[in-house]
Amino acid sequence: KPMAEAGAVAVIGLGRFGGSLAVELAKHGVDVIGIDSDEAVVAEYSDKLAHVSRADATDEEVLRQLGIDDVSRVVIAIGSDLEASILVASRILKLGNRHIWAKAISETHAEILHQLGIRNVVRPENDMGRRLAHLIRGHISDFLPIDEDFVLARTTPPVRVSDVPLASLGVRAEYGVTIVAVKRAGGTTWDIADRDMTLYADDEILIAGHPREVEAFSELDK
Ligand code: ADP
Repeated sequence: KPMAEAGAVAVIGLGRFGGSLAVELAKHGVDVIGIDSDEAVVAEYSDKLAHVSRADATDEEVLRQLGIDDVSRVVIAIGSDLEASILVASRILKLGNRHIWAKAISETHAEILHQLGIRNVVRPENDMGRRLAHLIRGHISDFLPIDEDFVLARTTPPVRVSDVPLASLGVRAEYGVTIVAVKRAGGTTWDIADRDMTLYADDEILIAGHPREVEAFSELDK
C-alpha cells in the first residue's frame, strides 16, 4: 500500500465540489488521495494533488489496493450519480474509516446516506442557496448552518428587544433563540452577550438556534 497514511484525506469524486475541496486541502499541506473514475478528470488533477488515481470507488478491492482502509478521513464527493454515491458510501462504511463526510444533492439522497450510517452529510448547493437568499434579502448579513437544526446568524436587534436590559426580556423563552454576541454600532470588536447588556437598534448581534426560529427572530420589526 504505497499511498495510504493515517493523516491523509481521501477525496472520492473530483467534480466541482470534490475537486475544489481536494485542492484547498492540499494547499494547506494535507496529504490528499484523489480518486475519480473519469480519465480526463484524473489528468486535470494529476499535477495539483500528490496522489490521484483513476478507479471505480464502488469496488471494495480497489479501495483496499489504494490503501483507503488505512485513511482515517474520507470524503465521498459524488453527487449526481446516486447509485455510485450509495455504493461507495456502503463500501467505505464497511472499511471502517473513522471520519466520513458525504455530499448529497437532494433531501432523499441525504436521508439515505444518513440511514446507511454516514453522520456528516453535506448539501453544498442547498446550504449556499439558503444562505444567499438571506444575504440578498438583507435581514441576515451572515448565516452559518452548524447542523440541520442549529445555525448561527448575524443580524440587527429587533426594536422590541432594544433599549432595555436583556435580563428583563426572556428572549430565549419567547423566541427560542440565544443572543450570543454583540458588536456595537461603529465598534470593531464582538463582546459575548450577557444578561446585563442592553441592545440598540444599530448594534449587530450574533444569534444561535433552530433555523426556523433564527429566521423568524431576524425578521421581527423589519
Ligand atoms: P459536482 O457537482 O461537485 O461536480 P458530480 O457528482 O458531478 O459533482 O461529480 C462527481 C465526480 O465523481 C465526477 O468527476 C465523476 O467522474 C466521479 N465519480 C462518479 N462515480 C464514481 C465512481 N464510482 N468512482 C469514482 N469516481 C466516480
